[in-house]
Amino acid sequence: MQADIEMVKALLDGSKRVVVLTGAGVSAESGVPTFRGVDGLWKNYRAEDLARPDAFEAHPELVWEFYNWRRELVGDCQPNPAHYALVEMEKQISNFLLITQNVDGLHARAGSRKLIEMHGSLWQLKCTTCTHAREDFSELPPLPECPVCGHLLRPGVVWFGEPLIPGVLKVSIDQINKADVFLSIGTSSLVQPAASFYQLAKDHGAITVEINIEPTPNTGFMDFALHGKAGDILPELVTGLGEF
Ligand code: NAD
Ligand code: ZN
Repeated sequence: MQADIEMVKALLDGSKRVVVLTGAGVSAESGVPTFRGVDGLWKNYRAEDLARPDAFEAHPELVWEFYNWRRELVGDCQPNPAHYALVEMEKQISNFLLITQNVDGLHARAGSRKLIEMHGSLWQLKCTTCTHAREDFSELPPLPECPVCGHLLRPGVVWFGEPLIPGVLKVSIDQINKADVFLSIGTSSLVQPAASFYQLAKDHGAITVEINIEPTPNTGFMDFALHGKAGDILPELVTGLGEF
């Protein structure tokens, strides 16, 4: 394992183009619950059953209660060493892109700038009727209304069954196709299309690396699978990067 870390470190050091994909596991050490397992339950609802357009249409107050709870919970969490290590990686690699499936905003709060939040953000609001959209970190009423048209606002996140934000997939794929190294960190690799990004990277000649505390359906296809916490492994990977 230590030998693998050293090899990945050497690879990163020689890389000009790195793409990183992160999932909920990167924020687990900040205290943000992941979706799968008992942690993912809220008032006995599965997150997957609330994070959907039909749930919002049928029970907007329930879905907003869930999101207001998540905003409060995440608002009290802080970025962890994994988030900061990725900020450092961005500084050291000339062509870097971080694609996150997380909606908690912790990468941005840590300082990542070459960042795509492919599923949106808990801190984004958008109108269900007009084009109004804004970032808002304040405490919201149970059913927030659009200041422009008065209709209901919704969380600016991509729900299950919804298409990605226009352009996001194209920019991600363009970068993945050119990557020397592709890292998949703290994601269960169950949600598409992100779960297939590694394949794209591999097909275009990138070295693929997974960091996770558990095996995923993709583990066996990776060039390197580093088993452990993102908050332990990532700081090790970036220490001394760019100084060789
Ligand atoms: P997931 O919950 O399905 O999987 C989390 C993965 O992280 C698991 O494979 C687990 O083994 C791994 N993991 C847990 N702790 C870890 C650690 N300390 N270090 C490394 N790995 C660790 O999450 P997902 O794959 O991101 O997919 C779930 C979907 O749910 C995404 O689309 C995402 O938008 C959404 N989601 C987001 C958040 C968030 O913003 N923090 C939280 C939950 C779910
Ligand atoms: Zn509106």
